Amino acid sequence: MRDWLSHRVVSSPDDVALVRAEDGEAWSYEDLDRLVAETAGRLRAHGIEAGDRIGVLTPPYVGTVGLIHATMRIGATFVPLGDRLTSRELGERVDRTDLAAIVCAESTEDDALSAVDGVPVFSVDDPDADAVTAVHDVEPEPVDPPEWSFDDRLCILFTSGTTGDPKPVPLTAGNVYASAVASAFRLGVDPDDRWLVSLALHHMGGLAPVYRSALYGTTLVLREGFDPGGTADDIDRYDVTGVSLVPTMLTQMLDRRGTLSDSLRVVLLGGAPAPDELIERCRDYSIPVHPTYGMTEAASQVATATPRATKGRVGTVGRPLFGTDVTVVDEDGTPVDAGETGEIVVDGPTITPGYIGTDPDESFGPHGLHTGDVGRLDEDGYLYVFNRLDDRIISGGENVEPGEVADVLRSHSAVADVAVVGLEDDVWGERVAALVAVEETDLGGPDDALDETLMSFARDRLAGFKLPRTIAYTDELPRTVSGTVDRDVVRERLTETGHDVTDGF
Ligand code: ATP
Ligand code: MG
Repeated sequence: MRDWLSHRVVSSPDDVALVRAEDGEAWSYEDLDRLVAETAGRLRAHGIEAGDRIGVLTPPYVGTVGLIHATMRIGATFVPLGDRLTSRELGERVDRTDLAAIVCAESTEDDALSAVDGVPVFSVDDPDADAVTAVHDVEPEPVDPPEWSFDDRLCILFTSGTTGDPKPVPLTAGNVYASAVASAFRLGVDPDDRWLVSLALHHMGGLAPVYRSALYGTTLVLREGFDPGGTADDIDRYDVTGVSLVPTMLTQMLDRRGTLSDSLRVVLLGGAPAPDELIERCRDYSIPVHPTYGMTEAASQVATATPRATKGRVGTVGRPLFGTDVTVVDEDGTPVDAGETGEIVVDGPTITPGYIGTDPDESFGPHGLHTGDVGRLDEDGYLYVFNRLDDRIISGGENVEPGEVADVLRSHSAVADVAVVGLEDDVWGERVAALVAVEETDLGGPDDALDETLMSFARDRLAGFKLPRTIAYTDELPRTVSGTVDRDVVRERLTETGHDVTDGF
């Protein structure tokens, strides 16, 4: 196997590889291959070789897609360095990944230089660069595409750093290939597919479609940055058939445009729990939403639900993809029964060989990689993801998963959304507390009536130690800029405005 674009250009040279959404300019696979051969040739002339790691600090534009394939063409490993990082963060990433060179753009030259010591920095699009070397300074050398094996490292990506420092995750060519195959088995591939990328290219959600479109021979539509109205319009304008989004992006797009183009075949929705009301809203407008659970370490999707599968299974992310094993385990690492909640462990051909600089024994057990996510598999093998292990509440020595409690409360018709956290408690260590966003219904009357309604509903469905002891009501849950529930603010609000609901048990 050579780099995937080398194979693709032989089998479908005239098909459209890439469309730039801003101006509609299009590149065929032959055009893209020419661009990639030239970039690879210049990088080679600058001394970059197979096995090297190339750090890339560029905006999410056509040049980056070229670099992704050019890196593979040389036989090197693609290491996207992210954006909006401080020079300390950037320097750390460079140190941890042992780079042979950094490639930047005119707009990121200063960032690259400030972070780097002793690693050559090249600019791809600035022929007059002084402080860095312009890639264009040399004539390209011909590159004979080397053979790739499935075990060779294709890329190294950093996790999002939600639970600590971002971790460098190497993914092999086999990991990304297996993920493309398994995703196609779940979503299908149409030769006329056009996939819109509006997620960052340094996260798997943005990068995976770049590799996949070359493997499938389909078209990538690229827009630099996300803008709810503009992205929705791109889908319409370019007859886009597939798009990956995080829930807040989709909510903003629907708020702005009401619905999305009926050219869409797949809306892959992941990265964070999708509110049930969002899924319902999609169903009302026949938007083909596919709730997805994925992570960097699994080269993106672990499980994906088709619209058919979500019907009647509120909150599911579907069954695991072909080849991916999902096991739910207890604290000792022992698999639990279907329906029981525990840590999600994943295994299969898409899973990273292990974090860089970390002993695999720390993250892998006999059933695979411990994800740090809490969920359950139902009797039919459908996966539900609740929350991170870190968010777990320990009350009176018992483990309470806030996501499980939230799911129950959310299924009540008076509740629009809910966040459950642990508050410090002198007696219990922690106590379960719920901030409830109420639906505008008749039930939204006085607090104590609603308390009683909700608590009796919860009592029928949850063990006593899982019941909320403190509740507060709100119109809307506080969210971070990236759209996830801001658990610190939830905790503050509950501490300040929450009231006791422990009466009667
Ligand atoms: P870090 O590993 O550094 O803490 P991170 O886990 O946020 O950061 P990513 O690999 O970008 O980094 O994100 C994967 C995580 O996102 C999953 O492990 C899971 O916690 C969360 N996630 C993804 N999809 C879903 C989903 N559908 N529902 C709930 N959580 C999800
Ligand atoms: Mg993670």
